[in-house]
Amino acid sequence: MTKADFKRLVRRLAITGGLEVAHGLAKLGILASARGRGMILTLHHVQPFRPAAFAPNRHLEITPDFLENTILQLKAAGFRFARLEDVPTLMADDTAAPFVVFTLDDGFRNNAEHAVPIFERHGVPCTIFVCKGLSERSHTMWWETAAALIGANDRVAFDFGDGESGFDTRTLSGKLGAFDHVCKQIFVRDETPAIERLNATAYSAGIDPHAIVADAVMNADELRALVNNHPLVTLGAHTVSHRGLGFLPDEVVLEELNHSADYVASLSGTRPTTFAYPYGDTRSVTPKTAALADWAGFKLSVTTKPATLCPKAMSAPQSLPRLSLNGFYQKPRYVTALVSGIPSKLAYGCG
Ligand SMILES: [Zn+2]
Repeated sequence: MTKADFKRLVRRLAITGGLEVAHGLAKLGILASARGRGMILTLHHVQPFRPAAFAPNRHLEITPDFLENTILQLKAAGFRFARLEDVPTLMADDTAAPFVVFTLDDGFRNNAEHAVPIFERHGVPCTIFVCKGLSERSHTMWWETAAALIGANDRVAFDFGDGESGFDTRTLSGKLGAFDHVCKQIFVRDETPAIERLNATAYSAGIDPHAIVADAVMNADELRALVNNHPLVTLGAHTVSHRGLGFLPDEVVLEELNHSADYVASLSGTRPTTFAYPYGDTRSVTPKTAALADWAGFKLSVTTKPATLCPKAMSAPQSLPRLSLNGFYQKPRYVTALVSGIPSKLAYGCG
């Protein structure tokens, strides 16, 4: 194996489950400099585990127990818990203790029910990124629609404009294949037409995509009560439609940014200074969209590029990295690996 092959292998391991490798390296004290000055964590659902054979969005949920254990582990490791707004100040002080920021995307009701009580028990601030169109039920979550549709049927057929594709979804692999087909339609362009077609297919099969949103996402009254009664909770903006911003014209991106900020201001009384890109990857984060986020007045914008915050991170405040608390890796040793910063060091050379 050449050195380049080895580097490629390590990189792949680091990204696709090499947390085991990173945990081993962390135990050996290798790459001790990888931790960075702090880190921002990404969460979505926080809810008790619900067994399901087909759960393609499982990576987007963690259990309340795992959240609490993670907080305890971070506390024991010497981390302080910080607000996202305070990151620039903390990053400017290289004598400060390492810090961690909790962020939760999409405004799920289980955040208020399960996560906020845990945060309050431990004095941990958090930012919940609110998507206006989900909160107002004008938009849907295609990934949840697809999961419900495929999970409930033994056969599904989609037509995304290039003819019908049918899938035998009696088996788990058949269901995953159908889900993958939907993802491929969504990930390559403005997803509006694909989502309209997916929603129509779902409705004709008796699945209501808007009811899924209403069931899972906090509405304006709930968000207002949450932010007004819980001082540790801050609201940030997360667009209106939850589309990949990189596929949209500048003026539409600006509308997404401004209208979602206006919405949060109407809930909390304060215009948000922080923004989370939908998906957080190259679908949304480009030099252009980062410049537009700056233009719209946000001070910090967060991505899902997985890395700890090394000093150079603040040179790009509109594209800060975040580490995901992933539903597939809910074990203490993975948190040890994650907070070591080693996975991101291996994958991105941050340091
Ligand atoms: Zn989101």
